[in-house]
Amino acid sequence: MNKKEILDKFSADPQRYYNVNLFEDQGFERKSCKTCNRYFWTLDANRDKCPDHSDDTYSFIGEPPTSKRFDYTQSWKEVESFFVKNNHTSINRYPVVCRWRDDLYFTIASIVDFQRVMGSKVTFEFPANPLVVPQTCLRFKDLENVGVTGRHFSSFCMIGQHSIPNESGYWKDECVNLDFNLLTQQFGIDKKEITFVEDVWEGGGSFGSSLEYFVRGLELGNAVFTEFQGDLSDYKTLDQRIIDMGAGLERFAWITMGTPTAYDCCFGPITEKLIQDAGIDANSSVLVPYFTEIAKNLELYDDLSQVRKNAIKSTGLSDEQINRIITPLEGIYLIIDHIRTLIFAISDGALPSNVGGGYNLRIMLRRIVSTMDRLKLKFDLDEIIDIQIDYLKNTYPELEDTRDDVKEIISIEAGRYDSSKQRMQKIVSKLDKEPSVTDLIRLYESDGVTPEYLKEMKVISEIPSTFYAKLSDLHQSKKQKEQLTLPLEGIPDTELLFYGDDPREFSAKVLKVFDNFVVLDKTGFYARGGGQEPDHGKIAECDIVDITKHGNIVVHEIKGEIPKEGETVSCVVDSTRRDGITKNHTSTHIINTSARSVLGSWVWQHSAFKEADHARLDITHHSALTDEDVLKIEQAANGIIESAIPVKIENFDRGTAEQKYGFRIYQGGVVPVKSVRIVSIGDLDIEACGGTHVANTSDVEQIKITRTKRIQDGVVRIEFVSGDGAKEFVKKKQVDSENKEKEEKLREQEKERRLEQRQLAKERIPVIAKSLLECKQGSVTVDDITMELAESGKANFCYSTSDNYDDVFHIGLGETLCKTDPKLVYCGLFEQGEKVRVIVYAGEDISKEKSAGEIVKSISQILGGAGGGSPKFAQGGGTDKSKKEDAIKNAKSMIIQ
Ligand SMILES: [Zn+2]
Ligand SMILES: [Zn+2]
Repeated sequence: MNKKEILDKFSADPQRYYNVNLFEDQGFERKSCKTCNRYFWTLDANRDKCPDHSDDTYSFIGEPPTSKRFDYTQSWKEVESFFVKNNHTSINRYPVVCRWRDDLYFTIASIVDFQRVMGSKVTFEFPANPLVVPQTCLRFKDLENVGVTGRHFSSFCMIGQHSIPNESGYWKDECVNLDFNLLTQQFGIDKKEITFVEDVWEGGGSFGSSLEYFVRGLELGNAVFTEFQGDLSDYKTLDQRIIDMGAGLERFAWITMGTPTAYDCCFGPITEKLIQDAGIDANSSVLVPYFTEIAKNLELYDDLSQVRKNAIKSTGLSDEQINRIITPLEGIYLIIDHIRTLIFAISDGALPSNVGGGYNLRIMLRRIVSTMDRLKLKFDLDEIIDIQIDYLKNTYPELEDTRDDVKEIISIEAGRYDSSKQRMQKIVSKLDKEPSVTDLIRLYESDGVTPEYLKEMKVISEIPSTFYAKLSDLHQSKKQKEQLTLPLEGIPDTELLFYGDDPREFSAKVLKVFDNFVVLDKTGFYARGGGQEPDHGKIAECDIVDITKHGNIVVHEIKGEIPKEGETVSCVVDSTRRDGITKNHTSTHIINTSARSVLGSWVWQHSAFKEADHARLDITHHSALTDEDVLKIEQAANGIIESAIPVKIENFDRGTAEQKYGFRIYQGGVVPVKSVRIVSIGDLDIEACGGTHVANTSDVEQIKITRTKRIQDGVVRIEFVSGDGAKEFVKKKQVDSENKEKEEKLREQEKERRLEQRQLAKERIPVIAKSLLECKQGSVTVDDITMELAESGKANFCYSTSDNYDDVFHIGLGETLCKTDPKLVYCGLFEQGEKVRVIVYAGEDISKEKSAGEIVKSISQILGGAGGGSPKFAQGGGTDKSKKEDAIKNAKSMIIQ
């Protein structure tokens, strides 16, 4: 089933699908476009083409169709007051980070706010009916258009008008009536200017008709009536029909202001300020014709550079005008747009990184910085953020709370980009041909080289229009969960005792046995889930190996003699293990909130793991933690324990919980059930969580952070212990430090002893020399000094490698010995700090054949160092302490063979 087929079918029966009361009442005429045959509805007798093909397309630029002028902020106020006046509830925007859907990183449409995915089914949860919402939406597909086309944004406000037809909501007639009155009454647009175009929508197994409404070729909104499910040959009406009217607020502002681009009227005072700072003559009369041409050409060509070329040609702009006015303006629009998107994303807890949705944010930040570099614009990012938040908070007051956090993250990320540039320069200098799109993606992915940078370096002339779409595709898909199929058909849900009285001993009936798996009618064993490890214990005589949950059925994997189906078995939970895990689970929540208060609002749980004797929490954070960060987090966590705060567990309807506590509750990810279990530690930490928890934070006793580590870009791991584990950790640390102290003391003592020894040795030089010289053949050792005589009687060798002696001793003894024995070579080796030093003396006679200098050179080489001196006295050394004996052997072989 494709859209064209549905449209053909619906347009063949306009009476049923499209003809609303308004068209009858006002006398709208249904026509078929002379160019494309599309059907549309109009009050203008002369109009014979659809908005895409009309001559008045984009003629509002420079000449708006209404005398009212509303900027972005005022436009929302007008829309809101109109719908509220007409019995709609105005609700606050939902976060742009889509925490309630695990198939989306960012909120891409207002209807997404109310969609909840359960299995393969999408259900709708409306906090009010009918309602209107100013939903900020993020879309990264058309990034290269942003700033250039006059109407593409990386984030925009979708006016969401939503209704379920029932006693409080309405259906098609009322919807189109309201949209018509909004345009004519509230915005003062002549009704002849409004064209409704017949269209359809389909997705997720359902479909319906839709009416797009245009004014002078600009699509302002699209009212989608999600009505049917099935396929075209056989479909039926949905139980839950939905009106999904989405309109671009930016376009509402633009159509009333008639500025050259939508950017000029949607960002507030920042645009004017940056244009002035950059010294651009923006009042130039070239802008209206240029951007009108851009808008018209966009309908005709896919290739943006072609669009731009055509617009330049037909408005006759010179290169000088392009370089002085158009190019810097495009850059300014891009910078403002991208910063606005980052403000929303960072405020809602997303961080730029190289994974997942963070990737798009990093791209945008790098585009901002490289655009400023390329155009030599020196803007103060903090100032841009301030002015934008000051303007945006008229509609979104919550942005005030994260003003400083946004600045901090953007400044860190911009700094990182600057420092990576040198590396990029090197990589670029090695390129020998113009890179393809695939090359560009590889350069970005593995080396962080942005195409903007390549354009700046004149490696490429244009950024290929498919680059960002391809890149974003690469990072859009999310992990697929693998689901084991087990023979569980017909088995009722397992009663979960740990959510009730939590008995540690209970009996249960065996409902199903397969392989080593057992399903009971009720269980007190916690199944692996939410990062919490499963309980251990016994089912009858069997030990539990693992426990998993499949839907609402708990499956126990056991070993031993497996019980039979129908049997009643007695079960015992390993209580010590469970208590350890439970303390660690509550600790995870405590550390999460502590980290957020110490580090910043961007901290979210990324994932968590809780075992009996250790646990870890991975949080989103931009840098590795410093020792000070860790200390502060640990102190904050233990402060929460000392405050003895009750841990409250309540069940809520999901929608109620979201409205009451916001989306911070989804720390552990999406909750795929209608009722959520909310675990709150006072108002410090409120999370949707299915785990086991202590009753009061004081039960945790103590938390110790054992280690932290940056495990991926934007994610930091905190490993910790709590309860008895923390006490043991503290004890072990105490013992470790005591041992260390003892060792240190022993080392000190040894050092002192050696010093004393060396002092004493010097006084004994004459005595030692006398004893050594008494040796008349063979060898003798006195106080670790050895004298060896050559059999030939031509040379004597005396040496020591003992660390009891120092340089003063060796010099003294060597000199004394060699004076008395002219055939003697003396060699002293000793350690001094990280080095081994060598001192060699040679007697008068032998020095003529075996120079002390030569011997030291040879020894030092073996020790991995160098040395030298005169024939009679030389010194040197090296760093390889393991080669001391080798060195002596070598010296000996040089003298007495
Ligand atoms: Zn047409
Ligand atoms: Zn939890």
